[in-house]
This record gives sequence, C-alpha cells and structure tokens, in this order.
Amino acid sequence: MFRHRKYCTLRVSRNTFGVGIVTEEGKILSDERFIYVPPLGRGIHPREATEYHLNNAQKVLKRVLKESELKMSKIDLISFSRGPGLPNCLQVGSSIARYLSLKHKIPLLGVSHCVSHIEIGRLLTKCKDPVIVYCSGGNSQIIAYIDGKYRVMGETTDIPIGNAFDVLARELGLEMPGGPKIEELAKTGKWVDLPYVVKGMDLSFTGIVTECIKKLNEGIRKEDVCYSFQETVFSMLTEVTERALAHTNKSDVLLVGGVAASRRLSEMMKIMCREREVKSYTVPKEYSADNGVMIAWNGILAFTSGQRMKLEDTTIIKNWRIDDVDITWL
Ligand code: MG
Repeated sequence: MFRHRKYCTLRVSRNTFGVGIVTEEGKILSDERFIYVPPLGRGIHPREATEYHLNNAQKVLKRVLKESELKMSKIDLISFSRGPGLPNCLQVGSSIARYLSLKHKIPLLGVSHCVSHIEIGRLLTKCKDPVIVYCSGGNSQIIAYIDGKYRVMGETTDIPIGNAFDVLARELGLEMPGGPKIEELAKTGKWVDLPYVVKGMDLSFTGIVTECIKKLNEGIRKEDVCYSFQETVFSMLTEVTERALAHTNKSDVLLVGGVAASRRLSEMMKIMCREREVKSYTVPKEYSADNGVMIAWNGILAFTSGQRMKLEDTTIIKNWRIDDVDITWL
C-alpha cells in the first residue's frame, strides 16, 4: 500500500488554503499555502474566504505536485482537516479531498486541526511527551496527553489569544495578523497596569482587550499598551503552563499554533522551564501557522496506527474538541 510512501494533504482554515506532501518518515516534500487577507480594518468574511479558497485550490494543488515532482497516482493517502473551523471553509477542503480520493482511488482520512498543530510540533522538535501550549487565532489551550487522548488542562473562557491580538491590532489600525506588529511596538513600551485574569486553570482575554482600548482612548502611548498587553497575557499563559507541569509531572513544554511565532512568549516559557529544570520547545516559525504539511503528517500517524474512514464518515465537525479525538499512535 505504501508503494511510494508519499502523502498528500489538504488544509483549509478560515484564511489559509494549504497543501503539503510528506513521506512516511516525516520528510516534507512540498508545502504551498494561499492566505486570504481581508481588507484593512475588517475581519474575515466566511463567504469571501471560501470564494478565495475555491479560486485558488487548483493552483495550489498543481504547485505542490510540481514542487515534489510527483503525480497524483503516486500519492498513497489524502488527509484533510475535519475541524474545528468555519464550516464553509472546512467544506471546501473536505469536498476537494473527497473528489481527489474518488478520482484517483486513494484512501481518505479526516483529521483534527488542533491535533495536527501538536503533531507537526512534535515531529519537528523531536519532543516526546510535553505539556502543550496551543495558541492561535482560533484556540488557546494548555494540553497534555493522558490515557489515549489529548486532555485540555486549561483554556480561554472567551476569545482565543490570537483573536485578542487581532482585535487590539485593528484598534491600532495595523494589518492582520496583528501579533508581529504588536510585538514590534512593545519593544519600546513601558508598563501600565492591566487586569490579570486567571481563573483556576482557565484564562480570559476580553476584559484585557477592552481595558487596552480604554487606555488608548485616554491617550496612553500605543507602545506602552502593546508592551503591557503582551506581558500580561503571556504571563497568564506561562502561569497556567507551570501549574500543568506540576500537575502532570511531565518534563517538556511544547509551544504550537500561530502565536508560537512570538519571540517574547517563547522566551517567557523558556525562563519558566529553566527554573523548573524542564525543557522547552517551540515549533519552528514556518510551521506555527496553519499549513497542509501538519494535516498530512497527522494523517500518516492515524493511518499507520490503523485508522480508516469510509467516504460517508468523512464529514466535517465544526466544533471538534481536541479531547474527543482518538489518539491511536501514542
Ligand atoms: Mg490553526
């Protein structure tokens, strides 16, 4: 079955249409992404994102095959993201994946977007059994693998951290994604007091964003607001991660998801880990954001550990919780 040991994958999220090809050994053969950027000052409109993905799907697929010098007939598995995500966008990915699977008679597997972020992080950092800090535009969770599932130890009770960055960035008139620009402004900022909201193992970000906007309206320098915002929300995450480490007795921390690209967050985790004498890892920047490669690799792990899907089971699950996903390869 693994004639050529190559796998194709489709990744469609609210702003990224990505396709990647990976071998069974975890070698990345190609990786293409088309990213939808909404006009300045606006959020992502699901219909516009879907149209963008549909218009670019064929182009991405062609490029990825060209880059890896492969034909579809050499692909042994097609994986795609079942969720969580915007239903319209997930539907684009699953429809194209089903079509390719039927046309070329290639097995099809739907995988979890969240688990894929973790697995690409584990593959590229060689980190074995970490406490995972998964922070992106759609998620903020502290996760640990326990008894066949990735369990959520703590999470946001309102908006995801990446979303909080984007709301603040929009208020400042910055382009999306807001994180890198806020990090840049924060470099010359000074501390102003902001609320610090950790409830047990959970986090809340909306009140902090509201307070930041209030401070900006009061005329406080944007650099100071960015610096204090960043320090506050990253401290909250680091605190909960430290408690998850104490609770699970694990000896590694792995930072994944789009916000893992923040140098400051990585640095704060490193300091906390050094003090506890545990190791800290961060997914390489190129693979912190959504991509097709992570879906391909997750597909390989699921397939080689025995998971199979009939076509009728390859539906999307828009609110798929990570703790509902069966992890058969660990
Ligand atoms: Mg993501």
